[in-house]
Amino acid sequence: MHDLIIRGGTVIDGTGCAARKADVAVSGRQISGVGTDLGEAHAEIDATGLLVTPGWVDIHAHYDGQLTWDPHVTPAGWSGTTTVVVGNCGVGFAPVRPDKHDFLIQLMEGVEDIPGSALAEGISWEWETFPEYLDALDRRSFAIDIGTQVPHGAVRAYVMGERANAMTAEPDDISRMAEIVRQGLEAGALGFSTSRTDLHRAKDGKVVPGTYAAKEEVVAIGRTLGEVGHGVFQMAGDYKPEDVELGWMKELGRTIKKRILYSMVQSSGDRDQWRRLLKAAADDAAEGGFLTPQIAPRPVGLLLGFESSVHPFFLHKDFLALQALSVAERKAALATSDVRAAILNNPPDYAAFEGLLAMLTTGFDQMFPLGKIPNYEPAPEQSIAALAREKACTPQELLYDIMSCEGGGNLIYLPMLGYVDGNLDATSEMMRHPQSIYGLADGGAHCGLISDASIPTYLLTHWARDRTRGARIPIEELIENQTRRTAQCYGLYDRGVIATGMKADINIIDYDNLQIHEPVMTYDLPAAGKRFLQKITGYHTTMCSGQVIYQNGIATGNLPGKLIRGPQAAPLSQSLSVSEAVDAPVYFVD
Ligand SMILES: [Zn+2]
Repeated sequence: MHDLIIRGGTVIDGTGCAARKADVAVSGRQISGVGTDLGEAHAEIDATGLLVTPGWVDIHAHYDGQLTWDPHVTPAGWSGTTTVVVGNCGVGFAPVRPDKHDFLIQLMEGVEDIPGSALAEGISWEWETFPEYLDALDRRSFAIDIGTQVPHGAVRAYVMGERANAMTAEPDDISRMAEIVRQGLEAGALGFSTSRTDLHRAKDGKVVPGTYAAKEEVVAIGRTLGEVGHGVFQMAGDYKPEDVELGWMKELGRTIKKRILYSMVQSSGDRDQWRRLLKAAADDAAEGGFLTPQIAPRPVGLLLGFESSVHPFFLHKDFLALQALSVAERKAALATSDVRAAILNNPPDYAAFEGLLAMLTTGFDQMFPLGKIPNYEPAPEQSIAALAREKACTPQELLYDIMSCEGGGNLIYLPMLGYVDGNLDATSEMMRHPQSIYGLADGGAHCGLISDASIPTYLLTHWARDRTRGARIPIEELIENQTRRTAQCYGLYDRGVIATGMKADINIIDYDNLQIHEPVMTYDLPAAGKRFLQKITGYHTTMCSGQVIYQNGIATGNLPGKLIRGPQAAPLSQSLSVSEAVDAPVYFVD
């Protein structure tokens, strides 16, 4: 007798195999049968006409602080995610000295645009060391499972104090950092993360500690992954100089036999770098190496509205004059013709702006109305520049009117990375590359400008179903990439596949009606901090560890999710042992 049978659904099982009709039985935390004639169960779900898939495994999130106040890890589960990995990009909240909480908050606020006041009010700080942070998480229950990584920035600040941003660490610093990372991994972290990009900056403008760390430092820390026997080496980087960076990354991967998972996006500054980075991974894999590009299945795009952290009018003095007003008062003021005229007629000196600032204020070719049903692959003729020409108005007038209609909640989309060609063809190529791993959704981060925790759903809505500006991707391939492959990348062999003995992390999806809606600025973080949240409709049921956590988009209140400590072995009924799998030079063994 099973606890539950999900009957009559179309199973896409996460292995890449073709969709098939099958029932799925669940008992306790596990899947207890897949097929027909599974017998009786205490409860049933009729999944006729619905898809049954593994829960999504999202490996790139920044919920590190939020985990201590939000057991639902909102909005991860809204998008069908049942496992997240946090501690990415070298930032996080452990280890930390009792007098350095603010340092890590400002780092996270700057790098990931998470309101510092929300972090200051929300984080419980029951820890100093990384293992103590894990213990604090382990005392809690969550809607979904949580994997962690030891962040270089926090480790360096802990060990080097005031010298955290120094270029060079002394040999003694390096051995202490390596020891802390070792303790974190032994306590259950799934990896180590570091930032090597100029783009990531703390609130005071300084880069993440460790950004310019010498090869000796990152390699010495990286070696602990090999010694402990598990862990992903996750990094965000500029990869400059490319041969030097790729050189040590490749060598380290082969030495420790662990994945070097590096973030990779197409940027206008070096539009073909991604091709070189992808080729490096392919060449390395052919020789048994471990270079693994982490890619974003949609552009890294900014959502520009009057409530966003920045937008095209944020430097107009008549907009700045409204800063003291409440959100509601400001909206009302922006809707008046006087304020509209004042803002439009008194622009700052646009000619003085360059780089990102110029793009934000006058990059009209790269701005698009997002729409109620967001369009993340807009065509050139849908740009603000093109639409303004068509309507014979100025781009600013058009922007203002779009942004201020319907209560001022309408958004302009500015795809900043991954949209150099004005379409997602390059992204498609990255997504279909055998070495790449899907990620960079950045859940919990960039609260005032980005809302990409919905990316796993976007795979189905856009890439499998709705795309018209280029080829679609088979749904089985997309699902495997968001379940088995992301799970196994982090050594989680107990999930990501619908098969007997696997963890019962399951989505039941009304695929025809699956829809991502417009992000809405919401003031629900601690200290009334703001973040974009994005409703998704079409998830009939989401289960974690055999318990329903969402039903038709509503949280049930069940909290079956736990901290994951270390790699997880495949169930005995599956053939792969965790030690085999973790050392495998390819992503999975069929
Ligand atoms: Zn990140």
